[in-house]
Amino acid sequence: MLLRDSGYKRSAHLGPYPLEVLERDETIIETEAARPTIHLAGPTRTPTKTDASSLSAVLQNYIALLQPFARGEVAAGQAPVPQQLARRAMELKGAAYYLDADHTGICELPERIWLRTTAGDYIDKASATAHTHALVVLCAHPRAIEPDNPAHHWVANAAANIAQLKCAEISIALAGHVRALGFNARAHIAGDLAIDAQRAAVLAGVVRRAKRAESTAVASPFLTDDFELAVVTFNYPVQVDFPLKADVEFSALRYWFGIGGATSGRERNRRRRRATHLSDYPMEQVKRVARPTTAIYDDEVPRVPLRANFFARARHGDLGPKAQREVARFAYKHPLTQGMMPMLAVLKDAQDGPVADQVAASFGASACDSQANTLAIKSLAHTLGADLAGICEIPDYAWYSHLGDGKPLTPYHKYAVVMLVDQGYDTMEGASGDDWISGCQSMRGYLRGAEIAGVMAEFLRGQGISARPQTNTDSHVLQIPLVLLAGLGELSRIGELVLNPFVGPRFKSVVLTTDLELVPDQPIDFGLQYFCNHCLKCARECPVSAIPFGDKVMFNGYEIWKPDVERCTSYRINNPKGSACGRCMKTCPLNKVVNADGSLLHRVGTWLGINARWLKPLLVPLAVYLDDKLGFGTRNPRKRWWLDLEWVGERAQTPKGTNERDLSLDKDTSGKKSPVGYYNANDMPPPNATAAIAVNHRAAVDRANKLETPADAKRRAQLGGAPPDHYIPVKALED
Ligand code: SF4
Ligand code: SF4
Repeated sequence: MLLRDSGYKRSAHLGPYPLEVLERDETIIETEAARPTIHLAGPTRTPTKTDASSLSAVLQNYIALLQPFARGEVAAGQAPVPQQLARRAMELKGAAYYLDADHTGICELPERIWLRTTAGDYIDKASATAHTHALVVLCAHPRAIEPDNPAHHWVANAAANIAQLKCAEISIALAGHVRALGFNARAHIAGDLAIDAQRAAVLAGVVRRAKRAESTAVASPFLTDDFELAVVTFNYPVQVDFPLKADVEFSALRYWFGIGGATSGRERNRRRRRATHLSDYPMEQVKRVARPTTAIYDDEVPRVPLRANFFARARHGDLGPKAQREVARFAYKHPLTQGMMPMLAVLKDAQDGPVADQVAASFGASACDSQANTLAIKSLAHTLGADLAGICEIPDYAWYSHLGDGKPLTPYHKYAVVMLVDQGYDTMEGASGDDWISGCQSMRGYLRGAEIAGVMAEFLRGQGISARPQTNTDSHVLQIPLVLLAGLGELSRIGELVLNPFVGPRFKSVVLTTDLELVPDQPIDFGLQYFCNHCLKCARECPVSAIPFGDKVMFNGYEIWKPDVERCTSYRINNPKGSACGRCMKTCPLNKVVNADGSLLHRVGTWLGINARWLKPLLVPLAVYLDDKLGFGTRNPRKRWWLDLEWVGERAQTPKGTNERDLSLDKDTSGKKSPVGYYNANDMPPPNATAAIAVNHRAAVDRANKLETPADAKRRAQLGGAPPDHYIPVKALED
């Protein structure tokens, strides 16, 4: 398509494969219902048979960490869900695809589908006697890593476990969501099944049996048998799908070009042809530079304490009592996020662990081979689900000076493996950026990131190599400078956000710090400074004018468009008509699909932006103009799968209002009405302050006069001048 990506008209609940075009056969329901009950001789959870330090064992350990949340308490009351069963199904299937299921479908549950013991008892009587419906989650195995890549043998026996972990995460989040809606639900995951998952998948129309009555083997028309299954059962009536016809076929040619806006065979083939360490995006085509495109005076950047982070400040009461109360729930207001929350908490507790005494023989000689390690680690990140990965050495200033308990932190690892998780284009397209799904978008990225980096760290520690995941719930490092230094993007006008040429600003980062010898990447230059200099869209669309309309300044040693962090944080926490905010990401012209299914306009624009930089004076103003003119940044109703609900107390309810924003084309962009405030190092709270230290916004705005311009700072540094006093952090309080 010329102006829009090929999936523009595809409803989000249909997913990435064109299952909806396949012929169905209702008679199969009866055949499947009549299949004999399966009787199990023992528990479904089997102990790990593999070497405890293998990737497979680590993945099984992570599945076991999530498993306790497959069941749980039901909300105190039922949510005001729609009466239409089709709309309910759309919401559940949309959520499964949003969480990256490859196929999903819904069925009713015949009695014989429940597993029993050899004595004839149900494996899970409570669910078997209460649940009427099931949603099936199918996740494809990752593709194999190239045989000459050292990670090949790490992953060779773990592909099924990788898909099982993803199935577990998605199904547990969905079961938690249904319980938050006020209905009983449980997830059935690898090793903890109370239901015949294959039969449920046949009934829900996501797979078919090889030969209808006789065979027990099932296959997906698109993925053959290269997948894993999980099931969510519940007593929530929803519209069901019908089974696929046994000999169902589809047009290979139409699939190649993307039937009904589904991901095309062309795009899947493009991804398959790329080496796994390169990820799905051609970052190798982007110009590399020795230093980031925005100046950083390494010797001048102060180390800052975790206490200065504005979410930490809100928790301490610095932003007032309302923010102190709301900070605990602002990102978890949607019932789907309620389903994710316990998993985020348990993964936080698993971040640290012992390192094996010796480097494992299987890792052996390659532990000192930085080239081989780099190849392997990047391929592992990609295989576990990271959309992009880069590596840098960690400068001291990227470590927090003090942790949350106020104790000083000594930097302990040499390298950062920085990984980006796409927040999901479809849902971003349907959302305003600050409505009820916004916080859930962030938490989805953080949860996936915590799994990926957590598995990698535990695997490396088991191989005798020190490593730690640095996640949004517990990070010892500041992630923004590391994303920049690892060559994954340039600093944008949004300020505290590095923007990537392919996924734009639409990602969450997670970092793995380690002492494994690696080869750092170089920073990139894809002309973003020019683009952001000539584009004000994020600043115009920010609901609280937290993004500057003016030029970059020097802030704590960085050349940056410094946003008003207090204003942004307060809005995200207190947003009365939504959960959190990511509106700047949503409306940025670089938040686009630029793969084989992207619009011709954006694919050509991206190619020219990277390869024909001399055209920028012509292209950038045109791109900025067209972006507004063509309505990019508005909401696409076909992508709106979720329900506007707010979790309050112990139940989900209709919120008092919802942010219904599109574009604010007439907004004043002079920046005079709401100048931004600056919170320098010398104005931060002491690292160990436990009492509230109130923020003074007026003083922060006045501080603009004290900031250097990038040109001033360069001149001063050339003359050997000392950094400004406001770079000196506030000292810890004495006992
Ligand atoms: Fe929302 Fe903050 Fe971005 Fe403004 S800067 S749009 S408040 S996330
Ligand atoms: Fe840069 Fe425009 Fe995106 Fe803001 S909206 S980050 S100015 S390209």
